[in-house]
Amino acid sequence: MTQATIDHQGRALDIERVRDDFPVLHQEVHGAPLVFFDNAASSQRPSQVIETVRRYYERDHANVHRGIHTLSQRATEAYEGAREKVRAFINARAEKEIVFVRGATEAINLVANSWGRRNLSPGDEVIISHMEHHSNIVPWQMVCQATGAKLRVIPITDAGELDMQAYRRLFGKRTRFVAVTAVSNALGTVTPAKELVRIAHDHRVPILIDGCQAVPHMPVDVQDLGADFLVFSGHKMFGPTGIGVLYGREDHLEAMPPWQGGGEMIDRVTFEETTWADLPNKFEAGTPNIAGAIGLGAAVDYVNDIGLDAIQAWESGLLEHATRHLEALPEVRILGTAEHKAAVISFLVGDAHPTDVATLLDMKGIAVRTGHHCAQPVMQRFGIPATVRASFAFYNTPDEIDRFVAALKKVIPMVC
Ligand code: PMP
Repeated sequence: MTQATIDHQGRALDIERVRDDFPVLHQEVHGAPLVFFDNAASSQRPSQVIETVRRYYERDHANVHRGIHTLSQRATEAYEGAREKVRAFINARAEKEIVFVRGATEAINLVANSWGRRNLSPGDEVIISHMEHHSNIVPWQMVCQATGAKLRVIPITDAGELDMQAYRRLFGKRTRFVAVTAVSNALGTVTPAKELVRIAHDHRVPILIDGCQAVPHMPVDVQDLGADFLVFSGHKMFGPTGIGVLYGREDHLEAMPPWQGGGEMIDRVTFEETTWADLPNKFEAGTPNIAGAIGLGAAVDYVNDIGLDAIQAWESGLLEHATRHLEALPEVRILGTAEHKAAVISFLVGDAHPTDVATLLDMKGIAVRTGHHCAQPVMQRFGIPATVRASFAFYNTPDEIDRFVAALKKVIPMVC
């Protein structure tokens, strides 16, 4: 792969310019230039996002919605402007379908608690998959315990793909909801999200897609996807921490009761009765993460400016480059060999403990993650406790991968 790639509209990803936008990348760790390959856990922020948040705090901060003074109006405009940016980014029909939350985890808990407690009864079934992040398992497990519903799990193949035949067979009279990821954070598998939606809808069952690892890396259009709910986190898409998005189809959100009570989410309050605010405020109790939302809006602008097609093309080049080099090392075993993968590589080095590998790589300035990646059932499926995971973003380069592979070659004799 060359250092520049062209997206479908003919726009080039100018890697030098892109890297200049990310101050954090330009530092040494343990005397070596930082190579940041932990993007699936949290990505880095460009100056444009950092500056937007700084400017907001320096000039415009006030609480939103409630004030008539100028700063409150400016803050409200910027906060609601960010909602519109997110709406357009995922092509939702209306801003009221965009609920700002703390992150994907909170979004799933919101749906599980609001939709789930209203609609699930003893004996009902919720389908998830074996490759879910704990965030898309535990909230459903908790709501199942509270309502008497049961979890059904789509198995995965040795390559780390969803068993689609098994998925079809899981549907029955009691299936009430499906919640599946678009991309596995532990294996990199890109699931056939549109097909998952189509099958769920054939059975008249609503479906939530966990877009955490998809939305920052590939175009996601909720109307084309057809999902009832989509969740993602700002900090994985070059925005601030503590902000995330729940997209919900308007008819679902209208029918769902609020999850948390407090300011902002009410229409009228008396001690006898409270009525709810309109969407999306009904689901945004309390002072929201104003700066986080505005920063996320700036991240959306930034990603749009580069272009998701260019990002996707660049990252798939990185994945291919890294996979080829890692496959050439006999001691390395890659977990997750799906046909469609995002730029995530989970691997083991001989019998070495992943923590030892990552510690030695860190000594060479290379940041990778180890552990179960909040997906213990995936580890159980493959009979391992943990993996080393390298995950790429569009600011990573083939040269960084070469340095990572060279460092790994030095680490292998130390751990094997
Ligand atoms: N789902 C997936 C697929 C993830 O990768 C993550 C984060 N690793 C989450 C959900 C949870 O996201 P957050 O911690 O930002 O709420």
